[in-house]
Amino acid sequence: MSAKGGLALSMWDPRTAIAAKRDGGSLPEGEIERFVLAYSAGEVDDGPAAAFLMACLLNGLDEAETLAMTRAMIASGDTVRFGDLGHPSVDKHSTGGVSDGVTLVFAPLAAALGLAVAKLSGRGLGHTGGTLDKLESIPGLRTDLEPDRIARQVRDTGCAVAAQSPRLVPADGALYALRDATATVPSLPLIAASVMAKKLAVDSDLILLDVKAGAGAFMKTPESASELADACIRLAEGADRRCGVAITDMSHPLGDAVGNALDVAEAVAVLNGTHRGNLRDLAVWFAAHAVESTTGEPFEDALAEAAAALDDGSALDRFARMVEAQGGDPRVAEDPGSVLPRAPVVFPLRADRAGTVTAMDAEDVGLAAGALGAGRVRKGDPIDPAVGIVIRPKIGDRVEAGDEIGEVHARTEEAAEEAGRRTLAALTLGEGPAAPPPLVIRWSAPASAP
Ligand code: URA
Repeated sequence: MSAKGGLALSMWDPRTAIAAKRDGGSLPEGEIERFVLAYSAGEVDDGPAAAFLMACLLNGLDEAETLAMTRAMIASGDTVRFGDLGHPSVDKHSTGGVSDGVTLVFAPLAAALGLAVAKLSGRGLGHTGGTLDKLESIPGLRTDLEPDRIARQVRDTGCAVAAQSPRLVPADGALYALRDATATVPSLPLIAASVMAKKLAVDSDLILLDVKAGAGAFMKTPESASELADACIRLAEGADRRCGVAITDMSHPLGDAVGNALDVAEAVAVLNGTHRGNLRDLAVWFAAHAVESTTGEPFEDALAEAAAALDDGSALDRFARMVEAQGGDPRVAEDPGSVLPRAPVVFPLRADRAGTVTAMDAEDVGLAAGALGAGRVRKGDPIDPAVGIVIRPKIGDRVEAGDEIGEVHARTEEAAEEAGRRTLAALTLGEGPAAPPPLVIRWSAPASAP
């Protein structure tokens, strides 16, 4: 412990909490709060905090402890308050996947439908992409927004997508970096607390969670995704907040683009109504649930309205306004190719055999894009916004040998060839038909509005 701890902390010994978790005990709320706040303030060093996290990973946290950790992370910073917006506010969050550009479409789409959207998004890690990295591939765009600025932007444009910061849930930033460095990320209660602290720190009327399940997600099976979903629902209930949770498929990439600028270009194509497929369908589905749950409008009507807002350009207009408000070049909405960074090598990806796609290892595709520079191995690593992979076939699609099924965008020919080889190896082709997996595996609707 540093000398900064002062008198109060000198009487408190973090080893008591570590030993209790090491021995499988439960900690009272105050003890968890003290530990989290002391670490966030730099008053507990990385060593004891790493031991604490590992003890939590190995022995778990019960429901009360997970809620206490979530509350402590929120209390480590400010919160975003909107005051009277005049329309419902909603937040949608994904637990992370491959080619998951839903937020890029959902935020402006929900704004076009009359909702206010403010969300704290994450960065890519391992094989998963991150909304902030994708958005920051737009020249000039900033995501380090102060709480007041987020609220102002939401009032002015209807949507804002920002990063966790030294003023917003800083304890999550510090703990996530330490979890990353100490192999303690895959702990269900720690993931639930980390995700929900970022959601509960923003005063939205409704939280929608997209818990991904499958090869390209942190949770590989619907069962483990269900456990995470239930833990998040309990945290929302503990905080008295309305929350709807979907478990959605991540056995193959959601969209076609696996990168950063490439995902923005794909999101623009969805927002201008020209690109169909799972990315559009899931964004429209979440937007319709957001409308239904906050206004009471029938779901089928809300679905039709959401589709219309993509086809009539109103969602695209909101996107341009959000980009401009965050310092980015709004021409990206009209002509992404002239604004977004481009990789020097673009290599067509051709099927090396014929067959029906029966399976796809989305994690491998994400890792192949990461190896090009699109992702990071460790939190804080730089990423290359221009590179990535476009892979169009989905499970159930038929391809013929030699068909152009996508592209690799790379810095060098060698890197492109290697990524192409890895991507083709991630496809399993068989004979006969294969059923595409359901887009939404489970939906737990939010409790009725008070
Ligand atoms: N996303 C988060 O925000 N936190 C985690 O711990 C994992 C995924």
